[in-house]
Amino acid sequence: MLSKPSKVLFVITVLSGGVGAARLLSALSGETDPREITAIVNVADDLVLHGLTICPDLDTISYTLAGLNNEELGWGLRGESWRVMEELADLGGAAWFRLGDRDLATHLYRSQRLHEGATKSDVTRELCAHWGVKVRLLPVTNDEVSSEFETEVGHLTFQQYFVSHQHNVKVERIDFVGARKARATPEVLEALEECSRIIIAPSNPLISIDPILEVPGVRSILERRRDDVVAVSPIINGAALKGPADRLLAEMGWEVSSVGVADFYEGLIGTLVIDEADAALSDDIRARGINVRVTTTIMADPANAQRLAQVVLS
Ligand code: GDP
Ligand code: CA
Repeated sequence: MLSKPSKVLFVITVLSGGVGAARLLSALSGETDPREITAIVNVADDLVLHGLTICPDLDTISYTLAGLNNEELGWGLRGESWRVMEELADLGGAAWFRLGDRDLATHLYRSQRLHEGATKSDVTRELCAHWGVKVRLLPVTNDEVSSEFETEVGHLTFQQYFVSHQHNVKVERIDFVGARKARATPEVLEALEECSRIIIAPSNPLISIDPILEVPGVRSILERRRDDVVAVSPIINGAALKGPADRLLAEMGWEVSSVGVADFYEGLIGTLVIDEADAALSDDIRARGINVRVTTTIMADPANAQRLAQVVLS
């Protein structure tokens, strides 16, 4: 058993996608004051459906940190019912993107507030205050950014790729439409400049972290602060735990391993945390001028999650 170290007190900023980030943020919250943690969250998966603005990564993180996430599904809220989707399917409506009745309330609330002139950052703050989420969640930008894919079956939006095709098609190119023109919010740039450590969550490098890095200002801060940047590899033993990170790395020409992750983040990180299963790759990663920490990184096991959070903070 690991004894619990005295609480570390310093301010950290975490570049975040969905599930991998939510798990890491939750573990970090157990090891340090959650009010000292800021998550900068990807918005390139966001979509408008039924006229509602849906932010999958922000919602996954806030539901998880609030203890409201649906563990069986791996997305959405617990205790969910599906009355609206059943009626919608009967009408022949767009029921392919499942939205539970409880979850719909989040999207209704957000969409109405946006319509009234609030920003995505405002709404995120309001929802987090309501749920008692203490980690500060910041969408990287309030401007529109969307991941789009050129594939063997043609052009696909993010959710067409991810949900309709279940990421089972060959991708030729990924574009983050709007990213170059988007403005990072002032709180985002400040959080990146002022924190004592920047962490890159074990999220999908190509579709969760890259669209954050593409927003002007973000990548250059990481380059400048690279000694303070620690990434956690989402690839363990040559595979992603979930989702298409492994497949997309290969399709975009990167090695499918923690070494490929190190190459992808070259120039941006000082340290890469890799799983014990990949300990043999340490020298290859160090040869790239990146420090390596080896630990258990599969956070489904709470003891692993705790140990990973301690390593990331140490
Ligand atoms: P999404 O937006 O929900 O698809 O999620 P993310 O972009 O955050 O990330 C999915 C990635 O997180 C996958 O590549 C997984 O391999 C990785 N991941 C999920 N859980 C864990 C975990 O417990 N440990 C590590 N190391 N990676 C994880
Ligand atoms: Ca996502």
